[in-house]
Formats: sequence, structure tokens, C-alpha cells
Amino acid sequence: METVIIIGSGPAGLTAAVYAARANLNPLVLAGGLYGGQLMLTTEVENYPGFPDGIMGPDMMMKFREQAERFGARIENVDATSVDFTKKPFVVRTDDTEYRAKTVIVATGASARWLDIPGEEKFRGRGVSTCATCDGAFFREKHIVVVGGGDSAMEEALFLTRFGTKVTVIHRRDHLRASKIMAARAEAHEKIDFIWNTVVEEVLGDTVMHGLVLRNVVDGSTRALDADALFIAIGHTPNTAIFDGQLDLDENGYIVSPDGVSTNIDGVFVAGDVNDLRYKQAITAAGAGCKAAMDVEKYLEALDFAVEEAFAP
Ligand code: NAP
Repeated sequence: METVIIIGSGPAGLTAAVYAARANLNPLVLAGGLYGGQLMLTTEVENYPGFPDGIMGPDMMMKFREQAERFGARIENVDATSVDFTKKPFVVRTDDTEYRAKTVIVATGASARWLDIPGEEKFRGRGVSTCATCDGAFFREKHIVVVGGGDSAMEEALFLTRFGTKVTVIHRRDHLRASKIMAARAEAHEKIDFIWNTVVEEVLGDTVMHGLVLRNVVDGSTRALDADALFIAIGHTPNTAIFDGQLDLDENGYIVSPDGVSTNIDGVFVAGDVNDLRYKQAITAAGAGCKAAMDVEKYLEALDFAVEEAFAP
């Protein structure tokens, strides 16, 4: 029987692990086959306090991991494949093991969304990407396209101007969803242009991507656009498939939590992007991981007290 299982190993999961380990709860972290979360896909992190010169995302996650292990957290690079929160102890399964746990912290994060169009998968890593910071530098002096109209798309487009000769933002409507300041910055940039009311229907290429098929959603016309790279920035999907039917999810699939820590199941806690459509920052995820571990500790204390009470002479 595990005292606490933490599912996920981004800033939320590993901060929960540090706090739970230091509280002598001997946490088990199911870190996932691709451990470390979204920061493993970024380059420099410049806004995490304590790193005035910035730090590479993967390096930061290795530090989080070392710190959790230093205090005794056990970290397995395996995916949780299913859970049963309908009874206690809770059950968490991986491909080859079934764990029982008194408490669980869900910190499975979110993943970038894809367009799901022909050619997208074929040219993934050969022109098509969801991570400008990871792949932008491959497209120096090239024509780069960004799809999306939100803050992420503007941020990616602005970042990509460092590399591309031109960055074209393609948005399915005629105005941006992005915040005014981000939109204004992108609109004012001499290297960025916009194609409105348009969706990408297909990625074209041979061994690498060479262009896109675009469709105007107003008049239905289609045309080809020469381009060397396509960065997709259309939001994220929370990684909650295995919790469907077990935990309350909202209409976007995020875990519902009144306080950003508790869930509809007593003893199951949540932390980080899996419950956060709004902030989605490493620092906010880490803060949530800390809170979740502290609430686990309180929950277990109350549980032990209840057991003692029940068996009191
Ligand atoms: P978002 O705000 O949900 O924007 C997603 C964009 O993608 C929207 O413009 C949407 O179009 C478009 N889109 C969605 N599905 C599409 C599809 N299948 N085909 C074409 N376009 C599609 O997501 P986000 O930009 O990732 O931002 C999420 C949150 O993080 C926001 O609250 C944002 O403010 C925040 N954020 C902040 C910063 C910052 O402040 N520096 C940076 C990044 C993110 P519609 O507009 O038509 O719906």
C-alpha cells in the first residue's frame, strides 16, 4: 500500500514529490514514459524565479527531479494506464503493475493540440511542430507559418521572427483571440503578416514540408502557399483520458476543482495544468504541487486520527 502516488512529473508533480518526501510520506511518482512534462520541450526558461540568467527547460526538470530524489521520492518512468477511485484504497495501474494507494495527486498536465489534417503527422519533425522554442532555429532564413489566433500563437510568431525571413499567421476568424498587448506587438512586427478567415487543410512536401493547402472559410476557395515550416499553436488538451468517469471533468476536459487542489473524490488531489486553463505556468504548477502535497499530509493526519478514534478503548 502506497501512502501517496503522484501521477505526472512536470513542475507540479515533482514539487508535490519534494514536499511529500520531506513530510516522510515516501511518495511514489509515476513520471510517465516521457517524463518531465512540457518544459522538456522548451529551450530557455527566463521567468522562473531563482534563475536570473535563465535555465534550459530540460535542465530545470532534471534539477526538480534530483531535488525530489534527494529527499527519497521514488520515481518510475512509466505511464499510469488506468485508475479506480471508486473504492479505497485507490487503485492506479501501469502496463505491468497494479498499485494501491491511500491518496493520489493527479499532475498529468496538458499536451499541445494538433490540427489533424493530411500530411501533419508525416511532416512532424520535418517542418511541422507545436514548439517554436524547440524547433524554430531549424528554419533560419525560411518562410514560417503559425496557425492560431491566441496568445500562444502570437508568442510563437514573435519568437520565430528571430529565425524566419517572414512569419505568416493563419487564423480561422477575422480577429485575434490574443490579449491586446500581444496582438498589437505581432501586428506591428515588420516580419509578421496575417491571413484571415483561413484554415490549413493539408501539409505538402516530399521528404520535408514545402507548402500548405489553405481554405478560405468565407468563400470556400482553396489555394496553395509555399512555406518551409508550420507551427501549430491552437491551445492544449489536458491529459485526463484515464480519469474520465472517475473524476469530474469540465467541458474542456480539465479536472474540476473548487480550490485548485481538491477533487470530487476525497483523498484524490490535483495540481498544475491538468486543472488550469488560465495560467499554465511552471511557477503556478509548482505552487499547486506544493499545496496538493500539504493537503495530502493534512488529509492523512485526519484519517489516522479517525482510525485511532474508531479503535479507541
Ligand atoms: P487559446 O487562447 O485557446 O487560443 C487558441 C487559438 O487557436 C484560438 O485563436 C482558436 O481560434 C485557434 N484554434 C483552436 N482550434 C483550432 C483549429 N482546429 N484550427 C484553427 N485554429 C484553431 O489558446 P492559447 O493561445 O494556447 O492560450 C491559452 C491560455 O494561455 C490563454 O489564457 C492565454 O492568454 C494564455 N497564454 C498567455 C501567454 C502570455 O501572456 N504570454 C502566452 C501563451 C498563452 P478561435 O479564436 O477562433 O477560437
